[in-house]
Amino acid sequence: MSPVIHLTTTAWDTIRSEVAAEAGRLETGGILLGHDFGDVLQVTVAGGPGPNAQRSRDRFLRDRDHAAQLAAGAWEADRAQWIGEWHTHPTTPPVPSPIDLASYARHLQDPDLSFDRFLSVIIGQDDQHQARVAGWIVTAGAATSVPVSLGDLQ
Ligand SMILES: [Zn+2]
Repeated sequence: MSPVIHLTTTAWDTIRSEVAAEAGRLETGGILLGHDFGDVLQVTVAGGPGPNAQRSRDRFLRDRDHAAQLAAGAWEADRAQWIGEWHTHPTTPPVPSPIDLASYARHLQDPDLSFDRFLSVIIGQDDQHQARVAGWIVTAGAATSVPVSLGDLQ
């Protein structure tokens, strides 16, 4: 069975408000923290870019200290781990760019991080400025599109 990504209401609210704050001018994003259950990747916390993120129209580099603080807090709360990242694209379809794939490949190859797979959520803006959400599971050899569900599971 192919896996699905589940964003809790809390995580999705953070993403939505960060996207609205940026209003499509610059790329924004942050880390995703949660649990990889195999068939479900559950995101419980989405980070914002942080005060020292570097952003432009086509590039986003997160604030590492901000991400590390969020990760420590989420681990304390419910043992949530760093499972991926989200960011915006000024266009649709929301597909990982070559720069994105190169950065995910570096994470997957980093022995200190010990990722088997890396979750990527991309928010693209279509011509009507509607947000389109796409989920990807990235492994050493491939990026696979997977469904994203929003809201709280019962
Ligand atoms: Zn990108």
